[in-house]
Amino acid sequence: MLKKFLKEIMIAVAGKQAEDIVYLLDGKKYVNEFLLAKKLDITINQMRNILYKLSDCGLVSSIRKKDKRKGWYTYFWKIEILKSLEFFKRILVKRIEQTNHQIKSRETKQFYICRRCNIEFNEENALLHNFTCNECGAIFTIKDNTKVLKEFKKNLDKLKKELVFVDEEIKKEKEKLEKKKIKELKKQKAEKKLKIPKKKARIAAKKKPTKKKPAKKKTPSRRKRLKPLRKIKKK
Ligand SMILES: [Zn+2]
Repeated sequence: MLKKFLKEIMIAVAGKQAEDIVYLLDGKKYVNEFLLAKKLDITINQMRNILYKLSDCGLVSSIRKKDKRKGWYTYFWKIEILKSLEFFKRILVKRIEQTNHQIKSRETKQFYICRRCNIEFNEENALLHNFTCNECGAIFTIKDNTKVLKEFKKNLDKLKKELVFVDEEIKKEKEKLEKKKIKELKKQKAEKKLKIPKKKARIAAKKKPTKKKPAKKKTPSRRKRLKPLRKIKKK
């Protein structure tokens, strides 16, 4: 389901050619752009054109690596899932608004139609045309909106369901990012803690290198001395 939406977003932004990018990229690993071009069977310039369009909208991001021998940069790409979802949400909200507007208009306004040419007019335009078709001269009839309204309402339901899904995915993605952040913070803290004792240990080792060793030697030798004594007592 998520892939389906991502695909729709990619096509909306970069055209039909961007359709299959969704199957080659994900939100985790960066993928070499030459590999992408090869897999989509297009030139590297065509590939970059698509990726730049997507990246302008924040839908993908890249890192670059320098080829040490050839001296040029190769870009590696991944999908920005949260940003893509938020982008799609904005489109959905707009579509829902438009559909609501169309429904309201169909419910409150009269529409006319030329049955022969199947052309539709709203009230103002029908009046301007004197309720007569420019093409065939037939007189307009009042349009029955029930079928159109049903279509619009069905579409509205679909859009609303998609919005619920996208909202859930956005929530999930935000939680994932939050967890990742916390993990990284913990890792950083753990690294700091490790660094301090290491330094202290090194300093301590430099200052008093001779005192520790004899202390360690004393303890086992005492035990050794005690053990045979115990054995003697038992016997
Ligand atoms: Zn007509």
